[in-house]
Amino acid sequence: MDTSEVSAAIRSAIASPTVVRAVGSGTWLHGGPVVNDAAASVVRPRGGVIEYTPGDLVISVHAGTTLEELSATCAASGQMLAIAPYGSPQSTIGAVVATASAAPLAYEDFTIRDLVLGLTAVTGTGDVVRLGGKVVKNVAGFDLVRLNTGAFGTLGIITEVNVRLHAKPIMDHVVTGTLVDAPNAWVLRLVENRAPLPMLVRLAPGEPAQLFARCTGNDARASALRGIVQSYGARNAFTLGSSDTSNASEPESPVAMLRHVPEQALVLRARTRPSDGASLIDAARVAFPDATLLFHPARGSLRITTMHTDHADARIAGFVASAPPSMPFSVVVEQGASPIAPSSALDLSVKRTFDPHGILNRRRPEYRDMAVV
Ligand SMILES: Cc1cc2nc3c(=O)[nH]c(=O)nc-3n(C[C@H](O)[C@H](O)[C@H](O)COP(=O)(O)OP(=O)(O)OC[C@H]3O[C@@H](n4cnc5c(N)ncnc54)[C@H](O)[C@@H]3O)c2cc1C
Repeated sequence: MDTSEVSAAIRSAIASPTVVRAVGSGTWLHGGPVVNDAAASVVRPRGGVIEYTPGDLVISVHAGTTLEELSATCAASGQMLAIAPYGSPQSTIGAVVATASAAPLAYEDFTIRDLVLGLTAVTGTGDVVRLGGKVVKNVAGFDLVRLNTGAFGTLGIITEVNVRLHAKPIMDHVVTGTLVDAPNAWVLRLVENRAPLPMLVRLAPGEPAQLFARCTGNDARASALRGIVQSYGARNAFTLGSSDTSNASEPESPVAMLRHVPEQALVLRARTRPSDGASLIDAARVAFPDATLLFHPARGSLRITTMHTDHADARIAGFVASAPPSMPFSVVVEQGASPIAPSSALDLSVKRTFDPHGILNRRRPEYRDMAVV
């Protein structure tokens, strides 16, 4: 559906009345904070490139364009979208923006919020709003582009997106090595001496901690960054492979492996001050001994993935309660559970403004991002 067809579908849903669900490729309808209402009628924005000006490093696409299609188009001009989120290359750009999807080892640690320049959305009244533009500094007043980024389609159905691109670096490698000492030693080393490169530490049960770092640039820069990785005490550091996720023929790239998440897994994201990372890791280890953890030293965030989903709510509550009181932190459920508490009054009033008939995606009433401060 193009923008006008989406608008017509919303107006007829208001008249029916019925609820609607924005759907991209439909790979993550079970995830995030949104009610997955089987009775909702599906609104599927179309895909395709609207305008691509390589010289401006900007592309405008319909929201149903998959990341794979986007990458193939940009790769022909030596350019790329800087992030490749968890999930698959079949994800649509509209959904990635709507969910503000997280991405492992994103180039320069970008998030999709950093890259969306503008978008078109259809609100719950059927009105079409065109937000932002095609240049980096294009917002005066309240930033509705970022309000819709991560709103999970609760405020509008995104139909078109303008994103900023980057030139593909000549070298783009993932370096990996084993961190042999305890987290309280290497967390401080990584946080205090952080090199300008995206890093993640993977902690799988019964295995030593493994550091992944994305080294990009020309030959000289990439090899200097590799040296820095070794200086962090990463034993046996070696180049694992390319991190070019835009190349669909390279599904075994390290980033592609990190992006893979089983649909049945419980996935949480916890965040604290980077320097408190070791305490957060310890608390997660106690609550989820069987989980694989991914620690992001620059953000102080910890991704917790476990296939043991029994008593998920109780285990999450135990995790929250076990953290030291002096450590501020927040927990978000990405998929597989639905902890407590309602949206704030501000959330509800913004929702009423953009979706007065309540026909767009709704947050699960019991869902909340738990902030412990
Ligand atoms: C197994 C798995 C694990 C994942 N884990 C994470 C994770 O931990 N963290 C994370 O951030 N992302 C995660 N993702 C999400 C992923 O990065 C993409 O955002 C998602 O897959 C989008 O692809 P899609 O087109 O299939 O979206 P869909 O499944 O079609 O939609 C995803 C959500 O976005 C809404 N939506 C879709 N299109 C629009 C639109 N045009 N306008 C408004 N709302 C829209 C849908 O209603 C739905 O709530 C995961 C995906 C998978 C498959």
